[in-house]
Amino acid sequence: MQYSLLSAQLRCYRLLLRQQAHFINRCYSDDIRNIGILAHIDAGKTTTTERMLFYAGKTRSLGEVHRGNTVTDYLTQERERGITICSSAVTFAWNGKRINLLDTPGHIDFTMEVEQSLYAVDGVVVVLDGSAGVEAQTVTVWTQADKHRLPRLVFVNKMDRSDAIFDKCIDDLKAKLDAKPICTQLPAKNVDGQLGIYDVITLEQLTWQQNDFGRTYSIAKLESSFEIRELHEKRNELIDQLSGVDDELAEVVISTESFDKVSNELIVQALRRATCQQKVVPVLLGSAYKNIGIQRLMDAVNAYLPTPKERNQIYNCFGDDLAGKVFKIVHDKQRGPLTLVRMLRGELKRGMRVLSSRGQAEVIAKIYEPLADEYREVSSVRAGDVAICAGLKSTVTGDLLTSSHTSLKNAQKRLVQSREAAAPQYDEDELDVNHELFSIEPKIPDAVYFCSIEPPSLSTQTAMEQALKQLQREDPSLRVSYDTVTGQTVLGGMGELHMDIIKSRLLSEYKIDVDLGQLQIAYKETIETPAITTLSVEKDIAGSKQNVNITLQLANNQNELFSLDKSPENVQNLNALRPRVLQVLRKGAIGALERGPRVGGQVVDTQIRLHNVTVGRGTADSFVMAAAAQCVQKLLCISGTRLLEPIMAMQIVAPNERISGIIADLSRRRALIKDVMPKGDRNKLILVNAPLAELSGYSSALRTISSGTASMTMQPCGFSEMNAADESLAVRRAQGLD
Ligand code: GDP
Ligand code: MG
Repeated sequence: MQYSLLSAQLRCYRLLLRQQAHFINRCYSDDIRNIGILAHIDAGKTTTTERMLFYAGKTRSLGEVHRGNTVTDYLTQERERGITICSSAVTFAWNGKRINLLDTPGHIDFTMEVEQSLYAVDGVVVVLDGSAGVEAQTVTVWTQADKHRLPRLVFVNKMDRSDAIFDKCIDDLKAKLDAKPICTQLPAKNVDGQLGIYDVITLEQLTWQQNDFGRTYSIAKLESSFEIRELHEKRNELIDQLSGVDDELAEVVISTESFDKVSNELIVQALRRATCQQKVVPVLLGSAYKNIGIQRLMDAVNAYLPTPKERNQIYNCFGDDLAGKVFKIVHDKQRGPLTLVRMLRGELKRGMRVLSSRGQAEVIAKIYEPLADEYREVSSVRAGDVAICAGLKSTVTGDLLTSSHTSLKNAQKRLVQSREAAAPQYDEDELDVNHELFSIEPKIPDAVYFCSIEPPSLSTQTAMEQALKQLQREDPSLRVSYDTVTGQTVLGGMGELHMDIIKSRLLSEYKIDVDLGQLQIAYKETIETPAITTLSVEKDIAGSKQNVNITLQLANNQNELFSLDKSPENVQNLNALRPRVLQVLRKGAIGALERGPRVGGQVVDTQIRLHNVTVGRGTADSFVMAAAAQCVQKLLCISGTRLLEPIMAMQIVAPNERISGIIADLSRRRALIKDVMPKGDRNKLILVNAPLAELSGYSSALRTISSGTASMTMQPCGFSEMNAADESLAVRRAQGLD
C-alpha cells in the first residue's frame, strides 16, 4: 500500500518534470527572466533559492543550509561552511515564465565572480536580513548592480525573527543606498502569532500553511475596518509615490481625481515601467526559512523585472545572427570544462562552429541546461537564455561568441550606423558601456595577498600544478607562479578565505592535501633610479664555448615593457640580431622582473631597454636567456627598488554623529580621506583609500567604533608608494623579522 502510494507520487512528480521540460523547451524570449540574487552573507540567498526551486517543483524536498543539503551550494566547502562560493545557474518555470537564476557568492574575496555573473542577468533580487537591514556587502553588491544598470527588487527576509524591523530596512534603503523603495507588502501578525503578509496593492491578507511546507497560502479580504483603513492609506501612498515617477499613472490619477479608482493592473504596469527604468525598487518581505512569501516574490520577478529583449538592445545590430557572452567557466568532474554563455541574439546549436572575440574558431560539442550541479542535455538554446557548452577549449570568461568574422564585422558596421543616426542624443556613459559589451575582456583584479603552497610529496607536484591550472580557468583571480629562488609554488589571491577554499578544493576534488605558507601582503616594487650596465658571461658547457655580452638599461616607464635602443651607435648591432635570439633575450629579461630584490614583489612601471648584444657562435638559447635575466637582476640591485603597497578603496556609510570618530581612526591607519558627503538626512558617506596592511580586522573595529551603525564596502584599487619608515617596516615583516 505504502509502496503504491510512493510510486504514484513519483509518477506525479515525473509528469510535472516532463511538463516543465516541455514548457522550458518552447519558451520564447519574452517568457524568460534572467536574474541574480545578491545579498550580504547570511541574509538568506541560498535558502531563498532553495525555496524557489521547491515551489517550482524542481526539487522534492527542502534543502537547508545548516544541514548541508542545498542544491545551489554544491561544492563541498560551501556545504561545510554554509556559504556560497561559486555562482551556480538554476532554471525553473513559474507561472508561464522561465526563470534562470544565478546564485552569487556574498564574500568580499569573490567580488570578481559576482561581477561576471552580472553580465548575464537582466535584473536582480537583493535579499536583506530583516533583523540587520542594509549591511556592508549589501552596499557593495548594490553599487555593482548600479554599475551594470540593473533593475532590482528587494526581498526583506527573516521577518519571522522577533528582532526584525521592516520599517528600519526601508529607512536603510533610502539612507544608505539612496534608493526609492516602494512597499508592495507589509508584515502582518496572524492570530497564532505567525508571520503573514498584507498585499498593499490588492488589499489582501496572505497566510501561509505550514503543514505542507508553505506550498499553499490563503488569501483573505481584510476583516477589521482599522486594518482596511491603514492599508488603504498605504495603497494611496504607493500610488502617489509611483505617479511621481510614471507619467502614464499620473495622468490616470489626474483624470479620475481619485486614488481609489486606479486599478491594480494599472499599478502593476506602472511599477513595472518604473522598476525597469531603475526609478524605484519594489520591496517584498517574508521568511525563506519559515516558507513564507516566496511564491509572491517569484510573481514579482515575473511582473516587474525586464525580459531579455527589453534589455541588451545594443545587440540588435546582430539581427538574428549569433551573439553570446561567456560569463563563467566551470570545471565539471565528468564533463570537463563547461562554458556558461548568456545568449543575446540568434541560436546556439549542438555541433555548431563559433568564433570567440579572440578570433579563435571552436566547435560546440554539447549543450546543457542548468540545474545547479546537474545538467540536462539539449540540442539548441535561443537568445535570452543561458547555455552551458562543452567542447570549447580556448574561450575565456568575457569573450563574445559570434558565428563568423563577417557576422561580427556586419554587426559592428550596423552599430556604428545606428549610432551615427542617433548622434544628437549621444551619451558618453553609454559609449563606455557599449565598449565594454564589445571588447569584453574580463578585468582580473591584481592579487593583494600571496602565500606559498606545497604538495604533500615531490611526486604530487605535477598533479598539484595540473589541478591549480584547472582551478585557474574557473577563477582567474587566482594567480599561480613559481619562485625560482625558493623553489616554491606561490599562490596569489584576494584574501584568506579565497586561499582556504583553494586548499580545501584541492583536497576534496583532487585528493591533494597541500600545505599553505603564511598569508602575506603582495607588495610590488618599482625602480628608484634609472641605470645602465653591461654584463659579460662566458662558460664552457660540455666542451662548447658559450658567451654573451649584453648592455641593458632600466628606466621608469609605465607603457612599454621592453624596447630597443635605435640610436646610431647601436642600430647596426640590433638590426643584425636574429629574431629568435631577440625573443629568448626578451623572455629572460622580462622574466627577471617577476621578482624584485627587496621583498620578491613583481617589478612594475619599469622598462627594459636593450642597447647592445653579442652572442658567441654556438651559444645555446637557454644561455642567452639566463644572461639577460642575470643582467636585469644586476641592474635592479644598482638602481634599487621602492615598495608599492596594495590600496583598498572603501565606502563607509554612518550616522552624522559617528563620522568624526571613524575619521580619527582612519587617519591612524594611513588612510587618505577623499570625500565626505551627505547620504540622506542622517547619514554621511565617506570615500577613503587606505593601505591593505592597516586594515586587518577593520570591519570589526568599525563595528565597535560605530556601535554597529556603520556599513562599509571595500575593493582593491591599485598600488601606491610608501614612505621610508613604513617601507622598512614592511620589508622587516616580509623577511619575518618583525
Ligand atoms: P546566504 O549566505 O545569503 O546564502 O544565506 P543562507 O541561505 O545560507 O542563510 C544563512 C542562515 O540564515 C542559515 O542558517 C539559514 O537557515 C538562516 N535563514 C535563512 N532564511 C531565514 C529566515 O527567513 N528566517 C530565519 N530565522 N533564518 C533564516
Ligand atoms: Mg549562500
